[in-house]
Amino acid sequence: MNILVINAGSSSLKYQLMDPETGSVSAKGLCERIYIDGRLNHNANGKKVVKDIPMPTHSEAIAAVLDILVDPVDGVIASTDEIDAVGHRVLHGGMEFFDSCIIDDAVIAAIEKCIPLGPLHNPANLMGIRACQAVMPATPQVAVFDTAFHMTMPPKAYRYAIPTEYYKNDSIRRYGFHGTSHKYVTKRAIELMGTKDIKIVNCHLGNGSSLSAVSDGKCQDTSMGLTPLAGVPMGTRSGDLDAAVAQFIMNKYGMSADECLNMLNKKSGVLALSGISSDFRDIENGADEGNQDCTLALDKFAYEVRKYIGSYAAALGGLDCLVFTAGVGENSGSMRSRICEGLEFLGVKIDPEKNKVRGKEVVISTDDSKVKVWIIPTNEELMIAQDTAELVKAAN
Ligand code: ADP
Repeated sequence: MNILVINAGSSSLKYQLMDPETGSVSAKGLCERIYIDGRLNHNANGKKVVKDIPMPTHSEAIAAVLDILVDPVDGVIASTDEIDAVGHRVLHGGMEFFDSCIIDDAVIAAIEKCIPLGPLHNPANLMGIRACQAVMPATPQVAVFDTAFHMTMPPKAYRYAIPTEYYKNDSIRRYGFHGTSHKYVTKRAIELMGTKDIKIVNCHLGNGSSLSAVSDGKCQDTSMGLTPLAGVPMGTRSGDLDAAVAQFIMNKYGMSADECLNMLNKKSGVLALSGISSDFRDIENGADEGNQDCTLALDKFAYEVRKYIGSYAAALGGLDCLVFTAGVGENSGSMRSRICEGLEFLGVKIDPEKNKVRGKEVVISTDDSKVKVWIIPTNEELMIAQDTAELVKAAN
């Protein structure tokens, strides 16, 4: 099967053509500068191609992707009929979507209904869907939501302790994000551990970071909230904060709510603490060179992640498996050991030799560690392709 995976942003569109069974990717790329001028970056047949193509809307971007996929030189398929289905990443499924689903008019209307919850991403995701429908009307389209995996959380985890009217009237609650990644690593952890009957804490640590607490394969809690601002500090996001901090800053500096939220989303996190970068590699280098602000940023990040692991172990009533994934989780042995330092009481024991590994699916705990600690490289595109293939097969 050939599944085209689409991740449409406001001015960009990422794509991968992949086989959901083997995970092999025959072509992938990025359309950027949509609405500005338009550039296609395409990787296939071991070769990189960059083409300036006018992209006044997402439709021209999708058309450019389909054109290059069937191109006699740079393409990988003879005709777009060889694309069996398209899987779209959609940011916010609100309370409408508990799982991935085949797109029809009702699904589009429900994604539109979720726009107030994902005002930047959902409109872009919808543009990607509509553009695909326009150029390939006979091909099934599937929506895969970043929030869906977390919809198994119980009310005690997803409700905020604020007046009920905001939940009832406005759907204000914890949703969580990175759901496709959490779902993928959970699926792999269950396969690798050989049983579903385990308590897992997944640490998706990248530029954006979130943790999830999983038992019996189902999400019980997650660190992000109504928006991706909540949880542990991130590259540029503050993470959890006393809401009164925002009020204080807005009053003192005459900031609007949007300006304050922009500061908390884009100028905070380890960028603010380190004073030099949001990139963990730069911060680790800074700390190695003796920069105390960098050391504080790394310590704060590790401390908050460690606290979440501890609280999720308490929430689950135990811990069998700890998973590290995404850019920092997969690649930074020093951050993994910083996080796990002090978790011995929970039965987490990292083997320093095994922990030197980067980006491979391996156990990094000692043989006698009660909790198995895994690096599981995430693959959101593969998860989208697998969900898409499964739904399309079931519908036929
Ligand atoms: P995004 O949230 O944008 O998808 P990624 O999951 O790609 O982010 O993670 C990006 C982060 O991973 C960056 O902060 C980068 O510094 C970090 N990272 C990548 N490789 C390493 C490494 N070897 N050591 C430390 N951090 C790394």
